[in-house]
Amino acid sequence: MDTIIFDVDDTLYDQAQSFHLTFKKLFNEQLTDEELDQLYRTSRKYSEILFDKSEAGEISQFEWQTGRIIAACEDFGIPIDIEKAVKFHEVYVFEQQNITLFDDVKQLLDKLYQDGNQLAILTNGEEDHQSKKIRQLDLAKWIPKENIFISGSIGHAKPKREVFDFIDDKLGLNGTKTVYVGDSFEKDVVGAKQVGWQAIWMNHRRRNVPNNADFVPDEEVHSAKELLELFVK
Ligand SMILES: [Mg+2]
Repeated sequence: MDTIIFDVDDTLYDQAQSFHLTFKKLFNEQLTDEELDQLYRTSRKYSEILFDKSEAGEISQFEWQTGRIIAACEDFGIPIDIEKAVKFHEVYVFEQQNITLFDDVKQLLDKLYQDGNQLAILTNGEEDHQSKKIRQLDLAKWIPKENIFISGSIGHAKPKREVFDFIDDKLGLNGTKTVYVGDSFEKDVVGAKQVGWQAIWMNHRRRNVPNNADFVPDEEVHSAKELLELFVK
């Protein structure tokens, strides 16, 4: 039996949408869609860096959740203080109540489920926050509760090998028949390849491969549509 494991944020749904809506609600700055997208990407970059620091116990979760928007705004010369950053995080979480799966991802999950594959989720973040999104996306329709893994409750986060080994153990996986799908090269592709899983890089933001990358993904796709097409041949 094949096992297909998915990342959640920005792999199954468009994470930029709630960011854009939140920014438009709270800031008067008139940014073009392109500028707003740049700001979103910058905040994601800081989010990854600060998440790792919070995992390492160097900063608090609060500092991670507020620090990413503060650092991004500073890069763009947009004034922001801590109060506004707290508000931003609150509204952002609120907006995530409206996230929906990419249409092609929905079709993909239907197909993989009907074909009898084992499906699972592996996502980085706090248990509460991630669980809310998983509920909103209705993932229980395709994925049993015991196959949903959130780093906050495992105690290790991607790309650490421990988190992948943990799932290997829990699901009794065969690496060559296990595929991981995610949008982050550093967290998802590297994480999966180091334990011998196959990796599909859902690179819909067209990011570059990092310098000195030790691994290459087995497949790279640039949209949910291309991802679906990989499985429907
Ligand atoms: Mg992701």
